[in-house]
Amino acid sequence: MQCDKCGAESPLTAMFIRRKRSFRNSTQNICPRCFHWARGVRAKAFLKLYIVLLLFCLAAAAWNPTDFLHSHLVNEWSMFINLALATVFSYLCLVLHELGHAIAGWLVQFNVWRITIGHGPMIKKIQAGKLLLEWRVFPVGGSVEATSSRMFAWRLRRLIIVAGGPLVYVLLIALAAAAIHGEFGMSDVDWNGIYPWQVLALTSAIMLVGTLVGPPIRTARGVNTRDGFKMYQLLFKPISSVEQRQLVHTVAEANSLTLRKQYKAAAEMVNDALRRSPSDPRLKIALMDIQFNTSDYLAARQSVIELLEGYARNDAYRATMKNYLAWGDLMIGDSQSLDEANKASEEAFSLLPWEAGIQSTRGHLLIEQGQIDQGMDLLRRAIRGVENRSDEASVLCSMALGEFKRGNAQAAQKLLNKATRLDKDCELLPRVRRELEQPPSAPPAPILNPATPA
Ligand SMILES: [Zn+2]
Ligand SMILES: [Zn+2]
Repeated sequence: MQCDKCGAESPLTAMFIRRKRSFRNSTQNICPRCFHWARGVRAKAFLKLYIVLLLFCLAAAAWNPTDFLHSHLVNEWSMFINLALATVFSYLCLVLHELGHAIAGWLVQFNVWRITIGHGPMIKKIQAGKLLLEWRVFPVGGSVEATSSRMFAWRLRRLIIVAGGPLVYVLLIALAAAAIHGEFGMSDVDWNGIYPWQVLALTSAIMLVGTLVGPPIRTARGVNTRDGFKMYQLLFKPISSVEQRQLVHTVAEANSLTLRKQYKAAAEMVNDALRRSPSDPRLKIALMDIQFNTSDYLAARQSVIELLEGYARNDAYRATMKNYLAWGDLMIGDSQSLDEANKASEEAFSLLPWEAGIQSTRGHLLIEQGQIDQGMDLLRRAIRGVENRSDEASVLCSMALGEFKRGNAQAAQKLLNKATRLDKDCELLPRVRRELEQPPSAPPAPILNPATPA
């Protein structure tokens, strides 16, 4: 199947999103990357419009509060102001909702290690001690990741964490209802067509219904089920065994340690668990992640090969693992492993051609093989899809290599400096720096027009 927007082709038809063309009677197939990209552009545009509108209204209100509320301006714009308020409230409700999960998590003594607000491309990421806070573009959904090694009343404690989010909406509705009934003595304020409390109640109510019975949200990382479904499962479905729950806890703890760059502690934890359950793929993936992060590429390559052993399905997992294999080989860097890297990255690219990480590995390998234009083209696509500074630095390093091989030493140095500023620990930096220190290859000789007499 081929993406109707970017032309990326893949046999994994289930990953494409079918969408009706606006104003026409046909459908189009869109790859996940284009789908999320288009949604991101729309969401950002709407958000900007609302912020401008809201700032304008706030400025007008601050200029002369009584006059503002009694002006024609408010009468005519009140619907938009209410809508703008609803957007702001929905964002606020969402933050409070996730905070509700987190507070419930701390109360029942779970280790809360990641709070994500919204989904889609990352806006900001903050590591505060053991807690990772992520802010993403779309103000719908979010998640709180919390685990516990203590199995005491696990099901009840888990249920309390899940219920903590919807409970926030109930409290907000109650607060708004009390205000509407004049509990705070504000019922006689003439808002002239603006209904902040009603809007808050309605927004919270819609979000409560959404989180209880709404459909799962499709994100770039997979499908997120809603709180209502999770509570139903916790109440009525059998829960996983103690060993399984402990395993999930260990993997989450190890991931959180890896994110905080405490690799030694993370490796100890995973190896300890691997002695108890030596064949669990989640543990093996966690170990592989640590090995890549500590530049132990020979061990990482071995881990990837073990994870791929006997895996016959052609899917996103296979593509991701093949890309890891290619990256490991590339970092080992002898001619035999470069050969393997090339094959692996070709396979990964044939399955998930829109994935930025896969484009970046493929692009780098093409450049190393002298196919500079194709390589640079892929890297330019990859840089638009990277999610964090270290990935961006890595793509810039590859682009620097491409420019150097084209004979543009100055442009190469510029890209390399930019990469260094973004991430001074980028794994490609020493490698590309070494290349750049070698005498520059002669730029390709200009093609003389054969018709011009010499
Ligand atoms: Zn596409
Ligand atoms: Zn929730």
